[in-house]
Amino acid sequence: MTSSNQRSYLIVGAGVFGTSTALHLIRRFPDASVTLVDRDSFDAPSRVAASWDWNKVVRADYRDPVYCKLALDAQDVWRADPLWSSFYHESGVYWISRTGFAQAVLDNYARLGRPTEGKLYALPLAQARKRYGGIFEEADYTGVENVLVNTTSGWADAKGALRAVTEKAVELGVKYVAAEIEALEFDHEGACIGVRTGSGETYTAAHTILSTGAFTPKLLERTADSTGNNDFRTGGRIIAAGVTTGLAKLDDETAKEFAQMPVCIQENPPERGASNGTLPLNEDNMLKWWGQYIFKNTQDISGSQISAPPTTADYAQWAVPDALVQDIEFANKATFGKRGEKWKIMQHRICWDAVTPNEDFIISPHTASKGLYLATCGSFHGWKFFPIIGDYVVRMLESTLEPDLQARWAWNREMLDPSGNVVWPRKELKDLQ
Ligand SMILES: Cc1cc2nc3c(=O)[nH]c(=O)nc-3n(C[C@H](O)[C@H](O)[C@H](O)COP(=O)(O)OP(=O)(O)OC[C@H]3O[C@@H](n4cnc5c(N)ncnc54)[C@H](O)[C@@H]3O)c2cc1C
Repeated sequence: MTSSNQRSYLIVGAGVFGTSTALHLIRRFPDASVTLVDRDSFDAPSRVAASWDWNKVVRADYRDPVYCKLALDAQDVWRADPLWSSFYHESGVYWISRTGFAQAVLDNYARLGRPTEGKLYALPLAQARKRYGGIFEEADYTGVENVLVNTTSGWADAKGALRAVTEKAVELGVKYVAAEIEALEFDHEGACIGVRTGSGETYTAAHTILSTGAFTPKLLERTADSTGNNDFRTGGRIIAAGVTTGLAKLDDETAKEFAQMPVCIQENPPERGASNGTLPLNEDNMLKWWGQYIFKNTQDISGSQISAPPTTADYAQWAVPDALVQDIEFANKATFGKRGEKWKIMQHRICWDAVTPNEDFIISPHTASKGLYLATCGSFHGWKFFPIIGDYVVRMLESTLEPDLQARWAWNREMLDPSGNVVWPRKELKDLQ
């Protein structure tokens, strides 16, 4: 497929960044040519995307006022717009925090003029243990003074929303192509003009947008190698990192007791890892946990040592080593104590995301080539912005992104030291086998 149309867009990657971009582009420019390419079809029973999941937390509890405001804006859409609202559940979030997080969130809400009274509050430990019928009574509260409860946060059905929004984009005119992208294509002046698939087909457009999640560093590294232009390399800007999830089915009686449960997130002491957490029951009465270990998978790619998901087509995401199965057992124990001992946790999965040193997204032109853009790097918190993030990508493409966001999300922003970032991977997958 070729397109010389200036309003032509080729988006690689149909996770939340790519799909939201496709939707916002076609709504804004109904006559544009918008193609969304992904290695998996959007109705596949299982996908490698971080965005494909049973459920994800949708919360505006942020220390950073910028993401707090963006998340509040996203939640307004989650609640009100029929495209999104049936997937959203405002169960509340119960934060077991060890870092004074509660006050920072309360301050942000106040600064943004969002009412908190009776909706968002810090509970002293004795009271917190009794909330929600005492289901978190046996959680690990070591070093915790109070628990933040935000009744206005919750979760969403991730794969349901991803599929419905993709279908909406296609209905409005977006072309969805299931194909693995092998390489980027350039003209004789070095401008990016599209992509080539594994089977040798090319797709061209005036704008090529990489929303390739954890695969992004590998694609750029390969591009640097094939073009001889080192400016494509990620150079520590992005790292592919994995986290494990697991699910357990509750019996009918326990499910009834847990029907009103909120999301529970536990901030860990640094020696234990990042956060762990559990999400309320899905329609099959299954509880989901994520573990505290965040790890990389360093490989030799075109002569560079970088982290990338395993090379199999499904990123080996269902082949979860014992140490990571134990990581989920730990999350269960830290949240439910003895009560969770009888649950059989299954369907373990490793979910890969693209992480930046300070957890800011990259929504930016790539400085190595005209026509090439990035919109990805959710850094383990990008999913909730699904309804609105594409609007920011369109603004970036139109050069109307607010200067502060432009600077924050730029490819060539100042690189910060990731050593204080709890979600920066410190373990290697091979050491967890
Ligand atoms: C375990 C876990 C839990 C999380 N929980 C939350 C949460 O509760 N709330 C929240 O807000 N965020 C959460 N996140 C973060 C969030 O899921 C991600 O930040 C977000 O989904 C990333 O979206 P993306 O579009 O950048 O990437 P992805 O969703 O990974 O999509 C990338 C897409 O690119 C495609 N692709 C890659 N390479 C190629 C290629 N060469 N050819 C064709 N297609 C390609 C892939 O198939 C994939 O579909 C979590 C992440 C993980 C891993």
